[in-house]
Amino acid sequence: MTPRMSSWRDAALREMGLGPIWVRRGSQASAPLVPEASAPQQAAVVPPRAAVPSVPPPLPAPAALAISTPAPSAPAHSDAVARPDQPRSPSPPKARIQAGDDQRSARIATLDWATLEDDIRACRACVLCERRKQAVPGVGDRQARWMLVGEGPGAEEDQRGEPFVGQAGRLLDNMLAALGLDRTKDVYIANAVKCRPPHNRTPERVELAACLPYLDRQIALVQPRLLVALGRPAAQALLDRELAISAARGKRFERHGIPVVVTYHPAYLLRNPQDKARAWEDLCFARQLMAGEA
Ligand code: URA
Repeated sequence: MTPRMSSWRDAALREMGLGPIWVRRGSQASAPLVPEASAPQQAAVVPPRAAVPSVPPPLPAPAALAISTPAPSAPAHSDAVARPDQPRSPSPPKARIQAGDDQRSARIATLDWATLEDDIRACRACVLCERRKQAVPGVGDRQARWMLVGEGPGAEEDQRGEPFVGQAGRLLDNMLAALGLDRTKDVYIANAVKCRPPHNRTPERVELAACLPYLDRQIALVQPRLLVALGRPAAQALLDRELAISAARGKRFERHGIPVVVTYHPAYLLRNPQDKARAWEDLCFARQLMAGEA
């Protein structure tokens, strides 16, 4: 690694709140960054953890979800269970897609990039279309090996039409930089839902399900070697099940044969900087998987 590379990487790690505790050992460019002995128990070389079954039960189709009991709402980009003092959404928004979901999914599965993005921008499949300024399809290298999936656009993303351009996005860019990755050429970034949930609330299951055909088509077009789910709703969409980030971290899941790693959402990390080291551990695990080591 050249001194210049190491200085931007150090700066990125510092921005993640990790600078002082992480040092680089070993000469391999792909060697993981490991904490000094004095660092907390967050070894960057994540030991292989128990693999979990890779075929989760499917998310119910949106129409079915519309009449199912809603998951409790949590604050936007939350990774923990909703706190009791936080408001819950009163009732589940009804899915608009009552019929023809299979047909819709089958149609979306045939779209090329241009028609897919047009379709996303014109989508009215769930209530999120009502208050968006614009839909936010995705950004990055369409042939990337890494694909990151966030929760849904926030205010700035809704304004600009690009994922992760706000404060959380800046942290995400630094997390990527610490891995030596750049959002414009090494990764493709998408969200589980393409329209901003009002007040940045957590997307409902029915909204995740309505947007899933788009995410699946993006995955099929990009054909990434690895998917990284940023936060609980993204993990829920990719893995078709409810889970806690703390329980899912460090495990290798799969979606349609593609490895999936789950980690904290950058917005959660901004509020909970003490978990940044865990997020870095997760990214190192992802890098190991990418290198075929884990
Ligand atoms: N949070 C997300 O999950 N996605 C974005 O695009 C921005 C913030």
